[in-house]
Amino acid sequence: MDSLIVIMLDGIAADHLARHGARTPHLHALAERGLRVDRLAADVPATSLPGRTSILTGVSTDVHGIYGNVIWDGARFRYANPDDVRVPTLPAHALAAGLDVAVLGYGMVRPEDATTFHHAWWANEMLQRARDAAPIPADEGWLRTSRHVDGSGRIAALAAAGLPDGVPDAYAGDRMHYLMSEVTGDQTMLQWSAALASGALAGAPPDLIVTEVLTPDSLQHVAGFEHPFAHWAVSYADALVGEVVRALDRAGRLGRTSIVVTSDHGHGPVERALYADALLPGATTSCEGGVLYVAVDGPTEARRIESHLAEHGVARLPGDHLPPERRHDVAAFVAGGATAFEASAPSERAGATEGPSRYASGHGFAPGTPSDERFLIAAGPGIAQRTLERAASADVAATAAALLGLAWDGPGRSLT
Ligand SMILES: [Zn+2]
Repeated sequence: MDSLIVIMLDGIAADHLARHGARTPHLHALAERGLRVDRLAADVPATSLPGRTSILTGVSTDVHGIYGNVIWDGARFRYANPDDVRVPTLPAHALAAGLDVAVLGYGMVRPEDATTFHHAWWANEMLQRARDAAPIPADEGWLRTSRHVDGSGRIAALAAAGLPDGVPDAYAGDRMHYLMSEVTGDQTMLQWSAALASGALAGAPPDLIVTEVLTPDSLQHVAGFEHPFAHWAVSYADALVGEVVRALDRAGRLGRTSIVVTSDHGHGPVERALYADALLPGATTSCEGGVLYVAVDGPTEARRIESHLAEHGVARLPGDHLPPERRHDVAAFVAGGATAFEASAPSERAGATEGPSRYASGHGFAPGTPSDERFLIAAGPGIAQRTLERAASADVAATAAALLGLAWDGPGRSLT
């Protein structure tokens, strides 16, 4: 049977890919022999966990429930985890249809929804206990991904053949240790994906492999959009995709494997920050790029905050991207332009409502902001060569489902 690999490269903007073909030769080579979507619409908000979840569910945040990296649980804002996803993911659908599914390092998938599973190397970043004194029950959603021991034997077989047997603990050292854990973790996931897909080291290739690369997002945040280090990070991700293609080619599997590559959101320069604690003293808030969530006690308080924030040029979002039962206790706002919300000002500007951003580049700006848009590339058997100017977020999952031969009743349409 033909196989499908879905590779999510975190934070590669449509504009970046369009402008820098010379630095992303593998992605462009893939696009030349298949489908290319120049601008894939962003989710609201265009941040990482909503984007990851939409890619694998084909529904919007109000339906899948991951309307931010951080969500309101009725008492607090906390990190979303795979157990918060309210609808079955593509891996779950594929597994239920009897397919062989490998999820390698892709966040927002439950271990039981794959035949072969390895957690995202960054999963422990999402533990609330890393920030608070006491663990909270929701941490379990991420912890159980980290504890999962692959029962398929495939990862052990890959390690026996000389590939890594796991990922470093990214949180066991300083910033340099974190960065090297990141590039190592990303590389390991793509090495494993290449080896599994080529069917050489660990039995027959899975029908579906889902994996991701985080490095482009982190480097752009810190270094800046189109900074030389950001270019390195995107080229690194491109080269990892190239390794997968080369491995398939060497194994004679290229004609039997479809590859879908996309991003969870784009990236673009951040010009300034608004500091939530000074804007709304005493309020419970959560910053999601250019979107601010405020916990409110019903519509009257939401309107009071709305008129206060309007003095700072901040507009209220309709909130229809929130699950219906959250719309009365979470109000969503957007800064507009290239402005990000941050929890508090740096110490030297204590008390200020606005100032420089901690991050040089970011995402999750006002709905429709072009820099939030990403791309989609799909190549493989039966995928016609064509370019589409635009596609919807929901089309990614519908396209992947069609390539797997799965029935799909989401709002998206297959692009191939
Ligand atoms: Zn991201």
